[in-house]
Amino acid sequence: MVDAGGVRPVIWTPTRPPRRRTGADRIAEGRHVAQLASGPLAFTLRRSPRARRLRVTVDPVKGVLVTLPARRLGGVRLVESFLAEREAWLRRHLASQAREWARLDAQRTSGQWGAIRYLGQLHRLHVVPADPSVRRSSVLRVGGIDGDELHLVLAPSDRRAPGRVLEDWLRERARIVIAGEVDGAAPALGVRPIAVTVRDQRTRWGSAARSGRLSFSWRLILAPPEALHTVVVHELAHLRQFGHGPDFWALVGSLRPDHREWRRWLREHVLELHTALEPFDGVTSAAS
Ligand SMILES: [Zn+2]
Repeated sequence: MVDAGGVRPVIWTPTRPPRRRTGADRIAEGRHVAQLASGPLAFTLRRSPRARRLRVTVDPVKGVLVTLPARRLGGVRLVESFLAEREAWLRRHLASQAREWARLDAQRTSGQWGAIRYLGQLHRLHVVPADPSVRRSSVLRVGGIDGDELHLVLAPSDRRAPGRVLEDWLRERARIVIAGEVDGAAPALGVRPIAVTVRDQRTRWGSAARSGRLSFSWRLILAPPEALHTVVVHELAHLRQFGHGPDFWALVGSLRPDHREWRRWLREHVLELHTALEPFDGVTSAAS
C-alpha cells in the first residue's frame, strides 16, 4: 500500500451499526475545524473510552474521523498537530472520496440505480413474481439481450423484503466464491486457515488472526473476481507474514502481481459497494 505517513491507509470505514452504550462506555463525538497549511479541514472528533491511541481514518460518510482515547489530555490542539503531519494523505483521500461521490451522483441521476454490480459487472435488476407454488423468494442470474440481469423472484409467502432477499443471495454467493478462492490459494502460499467467515465486515475488506481465522466482507462478491482474489491472497499471506513489510508484499505479489491495481479498484468503489443495496431500503412490497 501507499505510504500513509505513519497512518495505516484505511480502505474504507462506513458507519458502524449502533452499539449499545452504557455510562462507562460513552462515545462523545463533535465536529471541529483544524487550520492546516493548505486551509481549513473539517473533522469529527470521537472520544472513546475503548481507544488506546490517537488515530485518524477517512470515513466515506463522516469524512475525516479522529478517535482520541477518552482520558487523553491535550484535546483539540494535540489533534491539530496530528492532522497537520498527515495533511497530504488526508487531502488525497478526501479528493478521491469527492470524486467517487460525484460519480455515484451522476449514476443516480442517469437512472442506473436499477442495476447492481455482481462479480464486477453491472446487472440490471428485475423483480418478478414467483409461481404461486413457490414458498421462498430467490434470485436468478439471467443473460439478457443487452447484458446480464438479476431476477428477484419474490414469493408472497416469503416475508423478507426484496433488498433482504438480494442480500441473502449475495452473501451466500460470497461464501461459496470466497471459500473456493481460499481453497485454491492456501496451498500455493503454504498456509492452512482454520476458519473462514463472511460477514458485513465494515472496517476492512478482510482480516486475518494469528489463530488462523480469516474473515471477509460479503460485499467483495460485488467487485471483480480479481479484486476478491486480491483480498483473499492478502489475508492468506498474513498467516505467514504479519505486518506489511517487503516479504509480505513479495508473497502477495507471487500469486497476484497486479494486487495494487485491484486494491485501487476497491478503494475507488468503496462507496458504491457499501451503498449497493440502499435503493432497497424501506422497500417492503413484493412484486406487483
Ligand atoms: Zn494486511
